[in-house]
Amino acid sequence: MKPVKMSRMLATRLLFEAQKQPDAEVCGCVSERAGMPHEIYPVANVAAQPACRFEMDPAGQIDALKTMRERGERMLAIYHSHPSAPPEPSVHDLEGLGYPDALYLIISLNIKGVLEMRAWQRENAAMRERVLTILD
Ligand SMILES: [Zn+2]
Repeated sequence: MKPVKMSRMLATRLLFEAQKQPDAEVCGCVSERAGMPHEIYPVANVAAQPACRFEMDPAGQIDALKTMRERGERMLAIYHSHPSAPPEPSVHDLEGLGYPDALYLIISLNIKGVLEMRAWQRENAAMRERVLTILD
């Protein structure tokens, strides 16, 4: 699979989203324009245990997709944060994949002072990591 390229500005904004709620998983969508990740669409996490699970608010998700279409963007990735786990898909993440073909970005706040983000995509029923390249 091809590496995922992302501007440093967008990566920084995603990390900031995760830091805003350090005790709960944040989630949302990332759009694409001209082959590059373009904009972040935060969606409320309505999971019963938001500290270790995420479930995007269905209405918020529909709104995000609608706005993307209106702006001529398309859905690229689903992002969420792990407040206290590494940036690897959890068992729950694999169970709850509503968009099996989407790219999954996981941001981890697990290591104090170090923000990590990794990209994953399903391939033959398993989650495979994709190389994430941050462009300056
Ligand atoms: Zn997760």
